[in-house]
Amino acid sequence: MTQNLATPEAVEVDFDTFEKVLGKNACTEESEDFDQAVKIPPPAKRPKDDDGLLDLSDESTLDKLSSGGFLRIRPEGQNVVSVAFFKPAVQEKTHYSQERNKTIPCLQPKSDYCCKQLGEARDVIGVLAIQYAGASTKDGGLKKGNDPELRVGYVTLSRSALASIRKSLPEGASLYSTDWKIWKRSSGIGYEYAVQRVTPAYKTLNLEKQVEELIAPYKDGVKLRQRVAKPMSVTEVKLLLTGEPPELGERNPLEDMETL
Ligand SMILES: [Zn+2]
Repeated sequence: MTQNLATPEAVEVDFDTFEKVLGKNACTEESEDFDQAVKIPPPAKRPKDDDGLLDLSDESTLDKLSSGGFLRIRPEGQNVVSVAFFKPAVQEKTHYSQERNKTIPCLQPKSDYCCKQLGEARDVIGVLAIQYAGASTKDGGLKKGNDPELRVGYVTLSRSALASIRKSLPEGASLYSTDWKIWKRSSGIGYEYAVQRVTPAYKTLNLEKQVEELIAPYKDGVKLRQRVAKPMSVTEVKLLLTGEPPELGERNPLEDMETL
């Protein structure tokens, strides 16, 4: 298994103690859609663990394929999504370019180009999650006897979203011990989070083994990191922000050009 190929500087965060680690100076800005990070065209060089080779004799691979792979879980339109969170969570620094409507990874310490262009980077938290795709899109509820349709993916959170999630936890509960529902704010900017079931449905329905199999390929956090902030080179970021290939010079070393 390859480890830390793309972003060795990324820190794996303990979701439960996240706020303590980061301090209280949390950014309240939540308007940006983190999805942009996922839409950035893939770099020419792909990390080895994403080589597109599939083992079809592997049960979890088949599950993954039938559920559409490792997806970002988020509500669309007025829909409510119902999820459970799992370890690990990762934290990445990103920038948002209003002009380009793109989220890009902070290049520090490799380069400060992004910070100079776009100001201070912000934290994005990605957490492994299981979605109950069979749940009601109105309220996230599960009907007795219906297939809950478990899907593996991840949820992205801003620091302020994480803070509000922690605030809504019932006494004695942890972020991982309950089911959550997520829906878009009526303003369309940002999301709301609430405890859906104090005991997760996958436990009530005795689907713990299935959940374990679904999340197993993602527990190392490698894919999670890549999805939360797709690794980009300095050149790729410059290209994205300027819309044209950067001029060659001392500040644009040739070695970066191979990723163009
Ligand atoms: Zn930066």
